[in-house]
Amino acid sequence: MGRVDGKIAMVTGGAMGIGKATCLLLAREGAAVAVTDIDTEAGEAVAREINENGGKAIFCQQDVASEQDWQRAIGCVVSGLGGLDILVNNAGIVIVGTVESATLKEWQKTQAVNLDSVFLGTQQAIAVMKESGGGSIVNLSSIEGIIGEPNTAAYNASKGGVRIFTKSAAIHCAEQGYGIRVNSVHPGYIQTPLVENAVCSLGKDADAFVQQVIARHPVGHLGEADDIAYGILYLASDESKFVTGSELVIDGGYTAR
Ligand code: NAP
Repeated sequence: MGRVDGKIAMVTGGAMGIGKATCLLLAREGAAVAVTDIDTEAGEAVAREINENGGKAIFCQQDVASEQDWQRAIGCVVSGLGGLDILVNNAGIVIVGTVESATLKEWQKTQAVNLDSVFLGTQQAIAVMKESGGGSIVNLSSIEGIIGEPNTAAYNASKGGVRIFTKSAAIHCAEQGYGIRVNSVHPGYIQTPLVENAVCSLGKDADAFVQQVIARHPVGHLGEADDIAYGILYLASDESKFVTGSELVIDGGYTAR
């Protein structure tokens, strides 16, 4: 028996990084998976990998910042797989910048992709899940939704928003008796294209930054995408049936100091 046998999952930003690891793990544990991403080629490749390994997956293209795309993508999942039990709001971006250097355009783009997306996805998933007896929504926040960093002002704001929005949605769903749980996950620094690109944007300061970041993780190294995928799997599965409005920190001890 897989840990999410028979469930239907949708994972945004599923083409790479944490999203890809989550799609592969959910599929290995028995879920039918809808991989969604803005990147069609890479997203289709993940769905293909799952199907070739005996799992069940489809790909639906979507920009998570677009309300229309959410309507289309949820429709694609429900018609393609027959319902929706698990939504992982994973897609996100980082634009490096302090409160002084960040532009309004960068700020707004970050909020649109990281926070508006979570609102839109949660709202639309609730509409489907409440009619079918419930579900689990897992929102990717970050340790950056709990602590501040000087050079990620817009990202901090978006991830802090995801953290507290998750609690609001969780309480609402519980009080309405929908059987829908909503939780957030807070990774430390994980080796994915997102972190590699953010580090590259620092230019000559990149190496020093990486050493500094590693030193802030008491375990002495960065995390891997699977470290986060296993936490998401727990929250997605019925093993966490009493867990809602909670924040699961997976950070090698970063925020324990
Ligand atoms: P990643 O490697 O950059 O993968 C993110 C995926 O999302 C990419 O395939 C990306 O496509 C896609 N995406 C970007 N914008 C999108 C949009 N508007 N609509 C749909 N898809 C979009 O990122 P990751 O490191 O796995 O991060 C996943 C989540 O975990 C994010 O929410 C991130 O903030 C959070 N997180 C990550 C870390 C970390 O250290 N990696 C730490 C804490 C939290 P393109 O590449 O084509 O843009």
